[in-house]
Amino acid sequence: MRVSTGRSAQSDSRMFTVVVEAMGIGLQRRAERRLLVPFSQLQSTVRTIALQGGRITAVTPWSPSDAGPAAADAATPQAEPAAKVEPAAQAKPAAPSKPASVSHADVPVNTYKPKDPFIGTVTENYSLVGEGAIGRVNHITFDLSAGEPQLRYIEGQSIGIIPEGTDANGKPHKLRLYSIASTRHGDNMEGNTVSLCVRQLQYEKDGETINGVCSTYLCDIEPGAKVRITGPVGKEMLLPADEEANVIMLATGTGIAPMRTYLRRMFEPSEREKNGWHFRGKAWLFMGAPKTPNLLYDADFEHYQSEFPDNFRYTKAISREQENAKGGRMYIQDRVLEHADEIFSMIENPKTHVYMCGLKGMEPGIDEAMTAAAAAKGLNWAELRPQLKKAERWHVETY
Ligand code: FAD
Repeated sequence: MRVSTGRSAQSDSRMFTVVVEAMGIGLQRRAERRLLVPFSQLQSTVRTIALQGGRITAVTPWSPSDAGPAAADAATPQAEPAAKVEPAAQAKPAAPSKPASVSHADVPVNTYKPKDPFIGTVTENYSLVGEGAIGRVNHITFDLSAGEPQLRYIEGQSIGIIPEGTDANGKPHKLRLYSIASTRHGDNMEGNTVSLCVRQLQYEKDGETINGVCSTYLCDIEPGAKVRITGPVGKEMLLPADEEANVIMLATGTGIAPMRTYLRRMFEPSEREKNGWHFRGKAWLFMGAPKTPNLLYDADFEHYQSEFPDNFRYTKAISREQENAKGGRMYIQDRVLEHADEIFSMIENPKTHVYMCGLKGMEPGIDEAMTAAAAAKGLNWAELRPQLKKAERWHVETY
């Protein structure tokens, strides 16, 4: 948003009164506020207000006489007495507006701890990747109905798995965390299962292939096997309660797990019927994979897009098959750059949340893309990101 100041930019000490509505939180949100802002901070203040959901109703040049006796006239825009005008040093909005999200107090956490884990039973374990894919990724479901108390969770949380056996020192293996890939109702909608999306870790060391302990244990596990489960944990990736929220999702590989829970909650007919949460906002999934057969849950997402074209958009970056604008491999950050304008227009709306999940390695690329994308809109990502984080609208879980 650009604000005309009526004069060409110059080094000056002009001050402006910015009249804002609906900024801040609680009752304060409804009140009109006047901010006295130096010319040099005008653009950044306007952006901050927009990010916090404020509505600017007037921007007018301020002069010292505005603070004088004539200012008591309530009919003029700068009519407030000088004492009520906030000094320039306080011109930045004090409290970031927090959109309605799930109340964190209601979120189940650590029902089962490593010393006394829940014993789940595997009901399903199938491959999620197609022929010609790189590596193994499986969808694994556990029955939770045997426990007292039952292990309950909500979308965006993780559980811990303690693999069988002992480590190189003869000690029991430690738990590994996995993002939950099913909604609280489970894939069977009965509310008594949890599913994971697990990639087998494999790497080469001294000419030998090393298999990750827990991921291999899970990818090889058979239905009927008993598994030690802990948790649930995590409050970083919870969905906002607002049915009109906008949700931008950036996922690579198994980072799709929480996004699958959101999208099922939003668009799966049986889920919508059961959860009574009728999403009306815009959801946009950016998914990164090396090859087409590595796209996870792709058919479901294509289906949601065809059924809900006004509410769901699905953009893929398939690095070994698609080219970016520079002729290199197409990564998720290239897609972010391609759509920078739309992404930042959405982010300027305080109802928009961004979720990122996947391997840690995706973070620098996304950060770089967001920096460039923000700059194209005249915004500074280094300033913006902490503000979004503080407003609980920037959610990251990488591992
Ligand atoms: P381990 O046997 O523990 O081996 C891992 C170790 O191997 C590393 O610590 C490192 O020392 C070494 N290593 C790894 N790669 C190399 C390499 N290239 N060269 C040399 N050494 C290497 N995983 C999923 O598949 N799906 C998920 O949904 C998921 N969600 C997660 C959510 C959270 C919050 C977190 C923290 C992690 C998540 N993970 C997920 C990762 C998961 O917890 C495990 O880390 C992963 O499965 C590997 O565990 P492992 O026991 O198979 O490997």
